[in-house]
Amino acid sequence: MNYSKPRFKEKYGNFINGKFVAPEDGEYFENHSPIDNKVLAKYPRSKESDVKKAIAAANNAKDAWGKTSAGERASILMKIADVIEENLNEFAQMETADNGKAIRETVNADVPLAVDHFRYFASVIRAEEGSATELNENTVSLIIREPLGVVAQIIPWNFPLLMLAWKVAPALASGNCIVLKPAEQTPASATFLAEKIADLLPPGVFNVIHGFGPEAGKPLASSGNVDKVAFTGETTTGQLIMQYASKNLNPVTMELGGKSPNIFFNSIMDEDDDFLDKCIEGAVLFAFNQGEVCTAPSRLLIQEDIYDAFIEKVIARTKAIKMGDPFDMSTMMGAQASNDQFEKILSYIDIGKEEGAEVLAGGAAQKLEGDLSNGFYVQPTILKGHNKMRVFQEEIFGPVVAVCTFKDEAEAIEIANDTLYGLGAGVWTRDAHQLYQIPRAIKAGRVWVNCYHDYPAHAPFGGYKKSGFGRENHLMMLNHYRQTKNMLISYDKKKLGFF
Ligand code: NAD
Repeated sequence: MNYSKPRFKEKYGNFINGKFVAPEDGEYFENHSPIDNKVLAKYPRSKESDVKKAIAAANNAKDAWGKTSAGERASILMKIADVIEENLNEFAQMETADNGKAIRETVNADVPLAVDHFRYFASVIRAEEGSATELNENTVSLIIREPLGVVAQIIPWNFPLLMLAWKVAPALASGNCIVLKPAEQTPASATFLAEKIADLLPPGVFNVIHGFGPEAGKPLASSGNVDKVAFTGETTTGQLIMQYASKNLNPVTMELGGKSPNIFFNSIMDEDDDFLDKCIEGAVLFAFNQGEVCTAPSRLLIQEDIYDAFIEKVIARTKAIKMGDPFDMSTMMGAQASNDQFEKILSYIDIGKEEGAEVLAGGAAQKLEGDLSNGFYVQPTILKGHNKMRVFQEEIFGPVVAVCTFKDEAEAIEIANDTLYGLGAGVWTRDAHQLYQIPRAIKAGRVWVNCYHDYPAHAPFGGYKKSGFGRENHLMMLNHYRQTKNMLISYDKKKLGFF
């Protein structure tokens, strides 16, 4: 199949109460494709009045939707999954046009994973078992889960459809109504989904508001008429969102930034083994999705006695990464998501050089031909230095890995944990003790062992430290979207006897 930029309408509306509507003040913003910097379409530059309309629609819908059975909701979630799957190529092309990532990722990973998330939550919501405990022969304790009501969800641009699926699938499965604000850089797939599922959900259950953080995100997160705020984005934005939500004592979940260590022990070096090849690939995965991944393995820690031999192979594999037209299936790395991102990444490469880091690969923008010459491409870059440098401590969110060495297990753990963040980590070893003990010692919510960048719906995901709290994926996510009610029922005919 040949993939290409899909056709967009000139402009789109917000999706409120089951219909697309224009913003109240008629203001729109242009959405550019980072592939060639051309305008894709215009979207509403929503303000507080638009947000209030969406929240009101969700509140009107919440009682009826909250009373639907798990079976009814499961069957709708299954249909949403089917719709995404039937339109997989359109969604993938839209994500590539909007975000700049290579089509091989959107076709093979992002969109199928979004489908799987809807199916997973459709299944688990029906598989749950109730909980009733006999406290004594006359008293029973029932634990009942109730939907929260209306949830505000604010998501980033790096996996537009998948981040939507992570939030929307469990919230709908639990019986909540939603007001979702996609990132202003990537409004396309949420709009396309709303269009495709408009007839599947009652009006008001799922609403999409476009616009910028301070103008549309802030009134949404500050509203006293929502019952929860679920956020994925930068740590500093998360801190603001918590302040907004605290006025209403609203619960929040926070999926924030990371600076994940990827640790390679000397037992991996066996030239005759496929496993070494897998490890090299694991080290080069810093360039996956242009490095715009919250768990990007952006710090590479290599045991010093294998450093020279291993880094040589990593550099060779990094230099073989094919950049080019993101719609070409053979392209491995596409465009950074925006000009802001592009400039931020290049400025961090400069910071690294000024700090004395050695450039082992890349280190500059990548010039491409034709229309692509206006896009935002950065070479996969390896910087050698030490863990106190800014390029080791700050989230660059680009295809830049900072590499250093360690002597032994204790030093590996010390460096790995010497960061504000605690989202992801990778450990590569053949040693059975290290394989268990090192992940246990790392303060991060997800530690991949002898693999990386796998995000199954049934494995919990989330951060320690400044990477956030709460978890996404896995059935435990359902309880982030529900109240727990306890009913204590007495079957005793006798008086209580207190008064
Ligand atoms: P961001 O914080 O700039 O924006 C995220 C969302 O918040 C956008 O929709 C934006 O419009 C909105 N926003 C911005 N300011 C706001 C405000 N004052 N009030 C309300 N809403 C506001 O983040 P980003 O640049 O879009 O995404 C990249 C970040 O997301 C990185 O730090 C990355 O690590 C993180 N991320 C984390 C996870 C995770 O699961 N932990 C997953 C993906 C991305």
